[in-house]
Parts: sequence; structure tokens; C-alpha cells
Amino acid sequence: MHYGDSIKISGYPAGRRLFELLKPERYFELEQRALQFFSLEKILDEASCNVDFFGLKLRKYPVAEISSEQLESKIDSIVQCLKSQNVKIRQRCVVNNIERSQACDAFIVTGFERNRYFCSEADVIVLATGRAGFASTELMIGKLGVEKEAPNISIGIRIEMPSKYLSRPYKAHKDFKFSEVFGMFKVKSFCFSNFEDAGGRLKYCYYHDQFDRNVVMLDGHANFSKNGNNLSRIETGNFALLVQLPRHFDLKWLNAVFIESYYNLFGGKPIFSSLSSFLEQEGEIGSVRPSVNDCARAAASQLFDPDVLNSLRAACKKAVESIAEANAVPVADIVNSSVVVAPEVEFFWPRVVVGDTFETSVPNLYIVGDAAGVAQGNLQACVAGLAAADSINSNN
Ligand SMILES: Cc1cc2nc3c(=O)[nH]c(=O)nc-3n(C[C@H](O)[C@H](O)[C@H](O)COP(=O)(O)OP(=O)(O)OC[C@H]3O[C@@H](n4cnc5c(N)ncnc54)[C@H](O)[C@@H]3O)c2cc1C
Repeated sequence: MHYGDSIKISGYPAGRRLFELLKPERYFELEQRALQFFSLEKILDEASCNVDFFGLKLRKYPVAEISSEQLESKIDSIVQCLKSQNVKIRQRCVVNNIERSQACDAFIVTGFERNRYFCSEADVIVLATGRAGFASTELMIGKLGVEKEAPNISIGIRIEMPSKYLSRPYKAHKDFKFSEVFGMFKVKSFCFSNFEDAGGRLKYCYYHDQFDRNVVMLDGHANFSKNGNNLSRIETGNFALLVQLPRHFDLKWLNAVFIESYYNLFGGKPIFSSLSSFLEQEGEIGSVRPSVNDCARAAASQLFDPDVLNSLRAACKKAVESIAEANAVPVADIVNSSVVVAPEVEFFWPRVVVGDTFETSVPNLYIVGDAAGVAQGNLQACVAGLAAADSINSNN
């Protein structure tokens, strides 16, 4: 949750693995409390929600949108609430080590706050370090001996196209989520970033110290502000397509092969190509550019091995055909006005072995949110946080 961003809150059946871990009764109790945390009573199931979108099967789950202004005031109120209870908040702080002290039966936490070293003692630790903290978290929990399982890494592309074409998918489902096997792999749409016909932004995401190389990637955010009254329309929106890889494409492969070849192209800066050249179709190569500047034109296809590329292309073609049909325009209109930006990398953090309280195999060490690897999402992170908090409270 960042200042300036809008977010979507996705309720059950999104986050199925979290639901399975917690079991229905406990899950729904926690989801209700998590909704209250976001000042929502419930997420209305949209009547307009279609399951079939011109040949694509969209996953159906309720979604609420929280504008950038609502999110800002939520973040402020959380900070105020903690400060009013004299909770010490360290800002601009990086935790770089957690050790178990034999002498005092506590954890010793060290790190830097605004470049100043600190050392604290803690009886209980809850790590909510998300995906941006994946490498440091890996290192810290590895040293503590936390049990974890290898992830199924996903890689792919992001398609940016005129927002007027993404209004129809948005109306069908705000998250436009489909998942289907294309060729050898399952491909899913991800992080749909468009609000009505008002578009969505591309935003740089800096992965310093998280991979073996410092790389920059692009994320998307829907342009949803002022509680629904957009101040300025953005001409483009975007969504990602991800290929779910089998487990033997592991973290070692990700760093040594995928990130390395990406880094070698333009020093780890995002690359883009026209959608027509990505699909190997005739088109206006060179006339369309992404909405962000600091990226280089290069064939996105060269990042992927042939089977992965086939799956991505097939999914991309089908998505574009469905969107064209929904808008009653020729497929070429969409292909010629869209770009592919790359790469997308998701779900690369390991799954930590946790029970329904999110306590790890190390007593009093909890891991919640994305870092636990159970389910992604803002509501899902909140549900896990509440489960951990309840457990800590009942033990003290
Ligand atoms: C572009 C984008 C858009 C998204 N949009 C949505 C959406 O609309 N709806 C939705 O449900 N989900 C969305 N998600 C997913 C959602 O943001 C995450 O699932 C959620 O934020 C997870 O919460 P978290 O608390 O686990 O981690 P984060 O929100 O990632 O927070 C982790 C925090 O820990 C800090 N940290 C990490 N390591 C350390 C360390 N060693 N020391 C100190 N601090 C550390 C990080 O800097 C970060 O501030 C989106 C994700 C991205 C990237």
C-alpha cells in the first residue's frame, strides 16, 4: 500500500489456498474483520460480472476498488492509531539479521534506520516483508532454519494498449482474470490495470539486491482516484500475461539464466516491442511506444525459451482476439496500437511451511502476507496478519 496508488480488494474465492489453510468458518470470520480494516462492510458481488468473455473464461470473485485518496487516508490512520498507542515505528528502516539469543530466550533483531545501525530484542516476530524483501527474508529465515518449499515461478510479459479497448474487459470483471493451458504451460492474466476507460499507469519497480543483478521491472496500477472521479484520463491501460513454470525452473535458474539474459540486454532496464512483432504478425513496427520512457526497444521474445514463448503468444493472441470482438473492431486495430513490455516475474518467493496461525517451524516467528507464499493480495495479507495477531494475543 503506497501513497498515490489505488488498490483492489479481492474477496473469496480469490486466495483459494489461504481459504483451504484456514478452513471456511475461520476464513470468513477473518475476511470480515479484514474488510473492516479497509473500512469496507462487504464486497458487493457485481451483477455485471460475466464468466464468459468472448471465448475467455474469467474467474469470478468480488472486487472492491479503493481510490488513491482513500488509501492515503487509510495509511495515515494506521500510523496515527499505532502512534496513539505509543508503538515505536521505525521508518526508512531495513532489518538485515534476526538471531535467536540463547542467553535471554529472545530474538535479536539488527538493521539500519536512516543509515543508523540499531539492535532490538523481541519475544515474538512477525515478518511481513512482501516480495520486495524476498532475498533478505530468504537469507534471514534460512539462517534460523525455517522450513519452506520451492515456489512455482511465473514469467511473462505486460501488454499496454489504448484504455478505450480495456473498458469492455473491465466491465466484464474488474480484475479480468483468466487462466488456461496454452501449449505446454498454464498462462494467466495478472494485475489488470485499467479503470473503466480512464486507463492505468505503468510504474517502475526496482529490484535492488533481490536478484543476483540489480534490475528494474514494470508494474501496473489502475487510474482510480478521487473516489471514482478521475482527474485526468490516461490514454493507455495494461495487464500482464504469466506462464506458470514447473518446479525445475527454480531460483537458481531464475537468477543464472532469466535475470542474467535480461540484464545483459540493456543493463537490467525494461524492454519493449510492438505487439505485432511479438506475435510475428505484419504491423506498424516502430510507431507505438510504451507510456514510460526509460525502457529500450528489443525483441521481448528473446527472453523466453521456445515452448514458453509459444504459450505466451497463444494466450496473447486469444486475449487480443477476445478484446477485439468485445469492442467490435478488427484484431489489427488492437495489434497495431499495442506494445509488449517485459519481463514480468512473479511468485518467485518460497512457500513457508505454516499452519493456520502463520507461525513457522521456529516458535514465535510468524510470516504473513506475500512473504509466506500462501496467497497474494491486500485482503489476503490482512487476513494472515489477523490470524497471526490472534495467535500471539492468545499466547500472552
Ligand atoms: C504493482 C502491484 C499491484 C498490486 N495490486 C494489487 C491489488 O490491486 N489488489 C491486491 O489485492 N493486491 C495487489 N497487489 C499485491 C499486493 O500488493 C500484495 O499482495 C500485498 O501488498 C502483500 O502485503 P505484504 O504486507 O505481505 O507485503 P508488502 O505490501 O510488499 O509490504 C512489505 C514491506 O516490507 C518492507 N520490507 C521488506 N524487507 C524488509 C526488511 N528486510 N526490513 C524492513 N522492511 C522490509 C518492504 O519494503 C515493504 O514495505 C499488487 C502488487 C503489485 C506489485
